[in-house]
Amino acid sequence: MDKLRGRGYNQKAMADKNTTCTVLISREQIATAVGRLAEEISRDYHDRHPLLIAVLKGSFVFLADLVRLLDFPLEVDFIRLSSYGGGKESSGRVKVVHDLGAGIEGRHVLVVEDIVDTGLTISFLLDYLKKKGAASVKLCSLTDKPSRRQVPVGIDYLGFTVPDRFIVGYGIDWDEKFRYLPDICFVGED
Ligand code: 5GP
Repeated sequence: MDKLRGRGYNQKAMADKNTTCTVLISREQIATAVGRLAEEISRDYHDRHPLLIAVLKGSFVFLADLVRLLDFPLEVDFIRLSSYGGGKESSGRVKVVHDLGAGIEGRHVLVVEDIVDTGLTISFLLDYLKKKGAASVKLCSLTDKPSRRQVPVGIDYLGFTVPDRFIVGYGIDWDEKFRYLPDICFVGED
């Protein structure tokens, strides 16, 4: 465990012996950004009893940190979409693989996402939620990769703009690996 908490680590073989992970955004930077986002969201939603919908699985750590900084009534739900196979590229075909637990008609919905990349996944979801009759739908994303965008997406609350690198950690995986890293890292193959 100590090794994982080292700074600037360039770790070999945590799960794959030919993979290295390098810190892109530290846990301290993440904590500062989540605090800022919580303040922005609190200002806009403190009297709206919002429904926060986290996109599984990559957003679960972000959601958990975020909601603990929100000091007003809210609810959470989860949705799981698939657009990626086991690799690093989106297939572009999005489908719901685990739906919401209840209806969202008339609710103020805030989607909590880990990464907006091409934008295909989140465009699909925002559309899907609007069609279900939400009173409002806004987007909070921890990271944004604008250089890869294929469809326009408005991000209402944004943590970080990131370069065109494949990132992992802080809940974000590569083929189910690396979710447990406390920092956001990029992976490279030797
Ligand atoms: P999009 O449809 O915008 O291309 O893809 C969004 C989803 O793709 C994200 O929610 C995430 O699951 C996945 N994704 C995009 N870029 C990355 C990345 O750099 N790392 C990981 N682990 N997943 C990514």
